Amino acid sequence: MTADSERFANELDQHLVRNGFIWGPEPEIYNGLAGFYTYGPMGKLLKNKLEGEMRDVFKQHMFSEVEAPIIMPRTVWKASGHLDTFVDPMILCSQCEGSFRADKLIEENHDVVADGMSDEELLTFIADRDITCPACGGTFDMEIHDYNLMMQTEVGGNEAYNRPETATTTYLPFKRYWRFFRKKLPIKVFQIGKAFRNEISPRQHVLRGREFTQAEGQIFVTEEMKHDWDEYEDIKDEKLPLWPADYQERGADPEWMTVEEAVENGVVTSQAYAWCLYVAFDLFTSAGVPEGRIRYREHQEDEMAHYARDAWDLEIELNSFGWVECCGVHDRGDYDLSQHSEHSPEDLTFKDNQGNEVMPHILEIAFGTDRPTFAVLDMFYNPEEDRLEIPNHIAPLDVAVFPLMTKDDLPDVARNLYQRLHRHRFDVEYDDSGSIGKRYARNDAKGTALCVTVDFDTLEDDTVTIRDRDTTEQVRVRMAELEETIQEYLYSGTALSELGEPVE
Ligand SMILES: [Zn+2]
Repeated sequence: MTADSERFANELDQHLVRNGFIWGPEPEIYNGLAGFYTYGPMGKLLKNKLEGEMRDVFKQHMFSEVEAPIIMPRTVWKASGHLDTFVDPMILCSQCEGSFRADKLIEENHDVVADGMSDEELLTFIADRDITCPACGGTFDMEIHDYNLMMQTEVGGNEAYNRPETATTTYLPFKRYWRFFRKKLPIKVFQIGKAFRNEISPRQHVLRGREFTQAEGQIFVTEEMKHDWDEYEDIKDEKLPLWPADYQERGADPEWMTVEEAVENGVVTSQAYAWCLYVAFDLFTSAGVPEGRIRYREHQEDEMAHYARDAWDLEIELNSFGWVECCGVHDRGDYDLSQHSEHSPEDLTFKDNQGNEVMPHILEIAFGTDRPTFAVLDMFYNPEEDRLEIPNHIAPLDVAVFPLMTKDDLPDVARNLYQRLHRHRFDVEYDDSGSIGKRYARNDAKGTALCVTVDFDTLEDDTVTIRDRDTTEQVRVRMAELEETIQEYLYSGTALSELGEPVE
């Protein structure tokens, strides 16, 4: 991190605390446990909005939403491979006994990718470069421990685990999907819910929490189907910012390529996989992330999970932490259902029209909603103006309603207006404390798109003042038309000046 980005990260953190977005690590009054956060009223509104947008995009692409349990017994995680392989390389300080992720220690001190290094290579690198304990400056015990990230619990005396991802729990009811979806592939389902990872030393705010919200789309397909994908024709001319592994090796920049170019030139392995990249791009841009802040990085050979056929990460460029991985798109082959067929009493194959037994393959769009929420706050925070310039369609509050003063009928009229807007499904807040200037400033800091003021003229002519956050422009509109006006402004991009009489 540069000094500038570090200063920005600190200012942003303070802003998010002050304005009710993200608090923690929690429990703060007990000194906090690293990697756990509370979303305050503003943060929760924003996270809900992003999840709503993402839910909407999944449904446009004909995914169905499901909700599976968070806790699963040991056998599930043995079958999925998590118990044996979901580990990070941990190293201990010989002085203060602090524990650290060996690969992250290296990456924080030197400009290398340590992800694929063997234990031997990690230790040699740390010894050769004299890397010392970030907490006390001491030296390390020269041993790498396999540190499992699964958060264990117990159910009825039996070993069980909190899920480290939603994916596995989405796969298990495959037979139920098969019958429900009329015995036909592809089957597209998604799940939004909590997952848990016992990170060794979580840092970087909610980007690396121990408890987080995942949103993962899973598509059950056959191998043949991947190369003859129904929706491919509709999206093959769309462009994506792709950064293939060989570009990375020779120091070339990512390139905007059409989906068709990527498939025809073998940059990705199948039409269906390319469609998944398109859907993920749609998910993030719909959630307000500007296209120019996104790139798709192909995994290097040694980063790939052993079952992965094709693996790319969608990365977002933040002002605070630089390029951050926010979504993985994976062709998992038939690994998952084969494993669960082997370990459970069920055979998860199905019979095709020719009577052949087929093991479904899985394509996965895997991400969480904490990182995009943080990303939006990071990218749209304007520290000079102390303002969150969040795009209107995802602003945490659409409207704040104020009575100019708390006298006569003004508070009653304003409260009625609040109820009316709330009934019309706007995210709205009522605020009557402090001067109007203070209330504007408070709402600018929270990213509220519009402020509506009820004043003495309202009592005479049924009009109110609407003020725009970014331009601070104000217009006067009829109260009867307020819902339409707000709708038009928020979702059609019409300038406020075209929707009412300007106020001097
Ligand atoms: Zn130490």
